[in-house]
Amino acid sequence: MPETSEKRPFTATVLTLYPDMFPGHLGLSLAGKALARGDWRLETVQIRDFATDRHRTVDDTPAGGGAGMVLKPDVLARAIDSVSAEDNRPRLLMSPRGKPLTQEKVRELAGGDGVVIVCGRFEGVDQRVIDARGLEEVSIGDYILSGGEPAASILLDAIVRILPGVMGNDLSGVHESFEGGLLEHPHYTRPQVFEDRDIPAVLTSGNHAAIARWREEEARRLTVERRPDLLARTATKTPPKG
Ligand code: SAH
Repeated sequence: MPETSEKRPFTATVLTLYPDMFPGHLGLSLAGKALARGDWRLETVQIRDFATDRHRTVDDTPAGGGAGMVLKPDVLARAIDSVSAEDNRPRLLMSPRGKPLTQEKVRELAGGDGVVIVCGRFEGVDQRVIDARGLEEVSIGDYILSGGEPAASILLDAIVRILPGVMGNDLSGVHESFEGGLLEHPHYTRPQVFEDRDIPAVLTSGNHAAIARWREEEARRLTVERRPDLLARTATKTPPKG
Protein backbone atom coordinates (compact mmCIF):
# COMPACT_ATOMS: atom_id res chain seq x y z
CA MET A 1 0.00 0.00 0.00
CA PRO A 2 1.38 3.45 -0.82
CA GLU A 3 2.38 5.58 2.12
CA THR A 4 -0.25 8.24 2.81
CA SER A 5 0.19 11.23 5.05
CA GLU A 6 -2.30 11.86 7.86
CA LYS A 7 -2.48 15.56 7.10
CA ARG A 8 -5.12 16.89 4.68
CA PRO A 9 -3.46 18.60 1.75
CA PHE A 10 -2.74 22.32 2.12
CA THR A 11 -5.85 24.07 0.82
CA ALA A 12 -5.97 27.60 -0.57
CA THR A 13 -9.33 29.29 -1.05
CA VAL A 14 -9.15 32.51 -3.03
CA LEU A 15 -12.03 35.01 -2.95
CA THR A 16 -11.93 37.07 -6.10
CA LEU A 17 -13.92 38.87 -8.79
CA TYR A 18 -11.66 37.18 -11.37
CA PRO A 19 -11.57 33.43 -10.67
CA ASP A 20 -10.33 32.88 -14.25
CA MET A 21 -6.97 34.29 -13.16
CA PHE A 22 -6.45 30.99 -11.27
CA PRO A 23 -4.67 28.65 -11.33
CA GLY A 24 -2.68 30.66 -13.93
CA HIS A 25 1.03 30.04 -13.39
CA LEU A 26 0.16 27.90 -10.36
CA GLY A 27 -1.19 25.30 -12.80
CA LEU A 28 2.22 24.89 -14.46
CA SER A 29 5.67 23.62 -13.54
CA LEU A 30 6.28 22.25 -10.02
CA ALA A 31 3.24 23.92 -8.43
CA GLY A 32 0.99 22.65 -11.23
CA LYS A 33 2.29 19.10 -11.00
CA ALA A 34 1.80 19.16 -7.23
CA LEU A 35 -1.72 20.51 -7.75
CA ALA A 36 -2.49 17.72 -10.23
CA ARG A 37 -1.12 15.12 -7.78
CA GLY A 38 -3.34 16.53 -5.02
CA ASP A 39 -0.37 17.62 -2.86
CA TRP A 40 -2.19 20.92 -2.44
CA ARG A 41 -5.66 22.18 -3.33
CA LEU A 42 -6.86 25.43 -4.85
CA GLU A 43 -10.46 26.67 -4.79
CA THR A 44 -11.84 29.99 -5.94
CA VAL A 45 -14.96 31.78 -4.71
CA GLN A 46 -16.58 34.35 -7.00
CA ILE A 47 -17.35 37.32 -4.73
CA ARG A 48 -20.01 38.55 -7.17
CA ASP A 49 -22.10 35.43 -6.49
CA PHE A 50 -22.88 36.94 -3.07
CA ALA A 51 -24.34 40.18 -4.40
CA THR A 52 -28.11 40.24 -3.94
CA ASP A 53 -29.37 43.03 -6.19
CA ARG A 54 -30.45 42.68 -9.78
CA HIS A 55 -27.20 44.14 -11.10
CA ARG A 56 -25.04 41.97 -8.83
CA THR A 57 -23.31 45.06 -7.48
CA VAL A 58 -20.09 44.46 -5.54
CA ASP A 59 -18.77 48.03 -5.16
CA ASP A 60 -19.99 51.49 -4.27
CA THR A 61 -18.64 55.03 -4.07
CA PRO A 62 -16.37 55.94 -1.13
CA ALA A 63 -17.99 57.52 1.88
CA GLY A 64 -16.56 61.03 2.22
CA GLY A 65 -16.07 61.30 -1.54
CA GLY A 66 -13.06 60.84 -3.76
CA ALA A 67 -12.02 58.76 -6.73
CA GLY A 68 -12.70 55.11 -7.35
CA MET A 69 -14.96 52.53 -5.79
CA VAL A 70 -14.90 50.43 -2.63
CA LEU A 71 -15.76 46.73 -2.26
CA LYS A 72 -18.99 46.46 -0.28
CA PRO A 73 -18.65 44.91 3.19
CA ASP A 74 -21.96 42.98 3.14
CA VAL A 75 -21.23 41.19 -0.13
CA LEU A 76 -17.66 40.35 0.87
CA ALA A 77 -18.74 39.18 4.34
CA ARG A 78 -21.22 36.73 2.80
CA ALA A 79 -18.50 35.43 0.48
CA ILE A 80 -16.14 34.95 3.44
CA ASP A 81 -18.86 33.27 5.50
CA SER A 82 -19.56 30.82 2.69
CA VAL A 83 -16.15 29.33 3.40
CA SER A 84 -16.98 26.88 6.19
CA ALA A 85 -17.49 28.52 9.60
CA GLU A 86 -15.40 26.00 11.57
CA ASP A 87 -12.54 26.62 9.17
CA ASN A 88 -9.52 27.71 11.21
CA ARG A 89 -7.25 28.63 8.33
CA PRO A 90 -5.79 32.16 8.49
CA ARG A 91 -7.88 34.72 6.59
CA LEU A 92 -5.66 37.04 4.62
CA LEU A 93 -6.39 40.17 2.66
CA MET A 94 -3.85 41.08 0.01
CA SER A 95 -3.24 44.78 0.62
CA PRO A 96 -0.44 47.32 0.09
CA ARG A 97 -1.12 48.47 3.67
CA GLY A 98 -0.36 45.01 5.04
CA LYS A 99 2.75 43.68 6.71
CA PRO A 100 5.38 43.08 4.01
CA LEU A 101 5.58 39.37 3.15
CA THR A 102 8.75 37.58 4.31
CA GLN A 103 10.10 34.06 3.87
CA GLU A 104 9.48 33.57 7.58
CA LYS A 105 5.77 34.30 7.10
CA VAL A 106 5.70 32.02 4.03
CA ARG A 107 7.16 29.19 6.14
CA GLU A 108 4.63 29.80 8.91
CA LEU A 109 1.71 29.66 6.46
CA ALA A 110 3.11 26.59 4.66
CA GLY A 111 3.16 24.78 8.00
CA GLY A 112 -0.60 25.21 8.48
CA ASP A 113 -3.69 23.62 6.92
CA GLY A 114 -4.07 26.28 4.26
CA VAL A 115 -5.15 29.88 3.71
CA VAL A 116 -8.24 31.84 2.81
CA ILE A 117 -7.18 34.80 0.67
CA VAL A 118 -9.32 37.81 -0.17
CA CYS A 119 -8.27 39.71 -3.29
CA GLY A 120 -9.12 43.40 -3.20
CA ARG A 121 -10.02 45.45 -6.26
CA PHE A 122 -10.82 49.11 -7.02
CA GLU A 123 -9.68 51.47 -4.22
CA GLY A 124 -9.85 48.65 -1.71
CA VAL A 125 -12.19 47.04 0.80
CA ASP A 126 -14.59 48.59 3.34
CA GLN A 127 -12.68 48.70 6.64
CA ARG A 128 -15.58 47.21 8.61
CA VAL A 129 -15.38 43.81 6.92
CA ILE A 130 -11.62 43.72 7.53
CA ASP A 131 -12.30 44.30 11.24
CA ALA A 132 -15.43 42.17 11.54
CA ARG A 133 -13.91 39.09 9.87
CA GLY A 134 -10.43 39.51 11.33
CA LEU A 135 -8.64 39.74 7.98
CA GLU A 136 -4.86 39.88 8.24
CA GLU A 137 -3.47 42.28 5.65
CA VAL A 138 -0.44 41.06 3.71
CA SER A 139 1.56 43.17 1.25
CA ILE A 140 3.93 41.83 -1.39
CA GLY A 141 5.85 45.10 -1.65
CA ASP A 142 5.74 48.87 -1.74
CA TYR A 143 3.99 49.35 -5.05
CA ILE A 144 0.35 49.31 -6.14
CA LEU A 145 -1.19 46.52 -8.20
CA SER A 146 -4.57 46.80 -9.87
CA GLY A 147 -5.90 43.90 -7.82
CA GLY A 148 -5.05 41.35 -5.16
CA GLU A 149 -4.99 38.37 -7.56
CA PRO A 150 -1.37 38.63 -8.74
CA ALA A 151 -0.34 39.20 -5.11
CA ALA A 152 -2.26 36.08 -4.02
CA SER A 153 -0.61 34.06 -6.80
CA ILE A 154 2.81 35.19 -5.66
CA LEU A 155 2.08 34.34 -2.04
CA LEU A 156 0.81 30.89 -3.06
CA ASP A 157 3.79 30.25 -5.32
CA ALA A 158 6.13 30.94 -2.40
CA ILE A 159 4.12 28.69 -0.08
CA VAL A 160 3.58 25.79 -2.46
CA ARG A 161 7.22 25.41 -3.44
CA ILE A 162 8.16 24.60 0.16
CA LEU A 163 5.31 22.16 0.85
CA PRO A 164 6.66 18.65 1.48
CA GLY A 165 7.25 16.75 -1.76
CA VAL A 166 6.66 19.67 -4.12
CA MET A 167 10.24 20.45 -5.06
CA GLY A 168 12.07 17.56 -6.71
CA ASN A 169 15.08 18.07 -4.49
CA ASP A 170 13.89 18.91 -0.99
CA LEU A 171 17.35 20.18 -0.03
CA SER A 172 17.42 22.93 -2.63
CA GLY A 173 15.33 25.15 -0.32
CA VAL A 174 17.84 25.05 2.50
CA HIS A 175 20.51 27.48 1.28
CA GLU A 176 18.08 29.83 -0.43
CA SER A 177 18.25 33.60 -0.01
CA PHE A 178 16.68 34.71 3.32
CA GLU A 179 16.64 31.20 4.83
CA GLY A 180 19.87 31.88 6.73
CA GLY A 181 19.25 35.61 7.05
CA LEU A 182 21.52 36.25 4.06
CA LEU A 183 21.13 36.60 0.31
CA GLU A 184 22.35 33.58 -1.61
CA HIS A 185 25.85 33.29 -3.12
CA PRO A 186 26.22 33.53 -6.94
CA HIS A 187 25.77 30.42 -9.11
CA TYR A 188 27.81 29.10 -12.02
CA THR A 189 27.54 26.17 -14.41
CA ARG A 190 29.21 24.92 -17.57
CA PRO A 191 30.77 26.03 -19.88
CA GLN A 192 33.98 26.60 -17.93
CA VAL A 193 34.64 29.78 -19.93
CA PHE A 194 31.82 32.06 -21.08
CA GLU A 195 32.76 35.15 -23.12
CA ASP A 196 36.24 35.21 -21.50
CA ARG A 197 34.78 34.85 -18.02
CA ASP A 198 35.89 31.88 -15.91
CA ILE A 199 34.02 30.05 -13.21
CA PRO A 200 35.77 31.07 -9.94
CA ALA A 201 38.60 28.56 -9.49
CA VAL A 202 37.59 27.57 -5.99
CA LEU A 203 34.31 26.10 -7.26
CA THR A 204 36.12 23.61 -9.49
CA SER A 205 38.87 22.87 -6.94
CA GLY A 206 37.06 19.94 -5.35
CA ASN A 207 37.87 21.40 -1.92
CA HIS A 208 34.47 21.28 -0.24
CA ALA A 209 35.49 23.22 2.87
CA ALA A 210 36.95 26.00 0.72
CA ILE A 211 33.81 26.03 -1.44
CA ALA A 212 31.57 26.31 1.61
CA ARG A 213 33.73 29.15 2.96
CA TRP A 214 33.67 30.99 -0.40
CA ARG A 215 29.88 30.69 -0.63
CA GLU A 216 29.41 31.97 2.90
CA GLU A 217 31.75 34.92 2.22
CA GLU A 218 30.01 35.77 -1.04
CA ALA A 219 26.59 35.55 0.62
CA ARG A 220 27.79 37.93 3.33
CA ARG A 221 29.41 40.31 0.85
CA LEU A 222 26.26 40.52 -1.28
CA THR A 223 24.05 41.02 1.76
CA VAL A 224 26.24 43.83 3.15
CA GLU A 225 26.29 45.46 -0.27
CA ARG A 226 22.62 45.11 -1.17
CA ARG A 227 20.55 44.37 1.91
CA PRO A 228 22.25 45.54 5.12
CA ASP A 229 18.75 45.63 6.65
CA LEU A 230 18.72 41.80 6.58
CA LEU A 231 21.88 41.64 8.70
CA ALA A 232 20.41 44.06 11.20
CA ARG A 233 17.26 41.92 11.35
CA THR A 234 19.06 38.61 12.03
CA ALA A 235 21.47 40.22 14.50
CA THR A 236 18.54 41.09 16.74
CA LYS A 237 16.88 37.68 16.35
CA THR A 238 19.36 34.78 16.39
CA PRO A 239 21.93 34.25 19.15
CA PRO A 240 25.55 34.20 17.88
CA LYS A 241 26.85 30.82 16.66
CA GLY A 242 29.37 28.76 18.63
N1 SAH B 1 -6.14 52.41 -2.78
C1 SAH B 1 -5.35 51.37 -2.24
C2 SAH B 1 -4.80 50.49 -3.35
C3 SAH B 1 -5.82 49.63 -4.03
S1 SAH B 1 -5.13 48.59 -5.23
C4 SAH B 1 -4.19 51.98 -1.44
O1 SAH B 1 -3.72 53.04 -1.80
O2 SAH B 1 -3.75 51.36 -0.44
C5 SAH B 1 -6.39 47.37 -5.41
C6 SAH B 1 -6.16 46.05 -4.71
O3 SAH B 1 -4.97 45.45 -5.19
C7 SAH B 1 -5.97 46.12 -3.20
O4 SAH B 1 -7.20 46.12 -2.54
C8 SAH B 1 -5.17 44.86 -2.91
O5 SAH B 1 -6.01 43.73 -2.77
C9 SAH B 1 -4.35 44.69 -4.18
N2 SAH B 1 -2.96 45.17 -4.02
C10 SAH B 1 -2.43 46.28 -4.60
N3 SAH B 1 -1.14 46.43 -4.28
C11 SAH B 1 -0.81 45.39 -3.48
C12 SAH B 1 0.39 45.00 -2.80
N4 SAH B 1 1.50 45.71 -2.90
N5 SAH B 1 0.36 43.87 -2.06
C13 SAH B 1 -0.79 43.15 -1.94
N6 SAH B 1 -1.95 43.48 -2.55
C14 SAH B 1 -1.97 44.57 -3.31
